[in-house]
Amino acid sequence: MKCEIIKDLLPSYIDDLTSTESNFEIEEHLKTCQECKGVFDLMKAEINVENIELNKETIKPFKKLNKRVLQSVLITLASCILIVGSYFYFFEIGWKVAFKDINIKYSYQDDNILIGFKLTNGKVLNSWINHKEAPVTITFTECFHSIFDDIGDSFSYGIREEDESGEMKTFTEDDCIILKFKDKTETLYLKEIAEELGLQ
Ligand SMILES: [Zn+2]
Repeated sequence: MKCEIIKDLLPSYIDDLTSTESNFEIEEHLKTCQECKGVFDLMKAEINVENIELNKETIKPFKKLNKRVLQSVLITLASCILIVGSYFYFFEIGWKVAFKDINIKYSYQDDNILIGFKLTNGKVLNSWINHKEAPVTITFTECFHSIFDDIGDSFSYGIREEDESGEMKTFTEDDCIILKFKDKTETLYLKEIAEELGLQ
C-alpha cells in the first residue's frame, strides 16, 4: 500500500474503524516504513493528550466542588461552635458577679447554718463550689435568663458541722468560706456567723 493511502487510513485505524484486512496491511506497512510510523506515533500522542485534557476538564469541576463543600462545612462547623459557645456563655456559665450586686443573709434552720445569696440585678445566679479546696471556695457568675433552664437569682449554702456529741461544732478562726467575685474576694468566718446567730 502506498504511504499516502496509509496516512489517510491512520485516523480511522486509531479510532478502530478500519477493517481487519486494512488493519493487517497498515500494521505490516508501519513495521517497515519509518515515515508512516512517525506520523502514526504523532497522531496517537496527540489523541492521548486530548484525552488527558478532556479528563482534566471533567475532573476540575469536582475538585472545585469539593473545595466549596469543604469550605461550607468548615464555615457551618465554625458557626455552630460560635453559636453553642455564645449560648453557654450568655445563658449558662456567664461572667463573674460584682460584689455590690449580691445580698448575703445568714439564718439557722433545722440545725443548719444557711448562707443565702441573692442577686439583685435581675440576672440568673450561678455558683461554682469547689469543695476540694480548703477552705471551700464559691465563685459566683451571672448570666441571662435561658428559655431552657432558669435556675433563678438566689442560692443558699448550708453548713452543718457537729462535734462528737452531736452538738453544733464550735467554729474557730480557721473555719471559713472563700467567696470569689469579679472585683474582690471575700472571706466568711463561720465563727462570726455563728456568733451573729447566737449559736456560740
Ligand atoms: Zn509509508
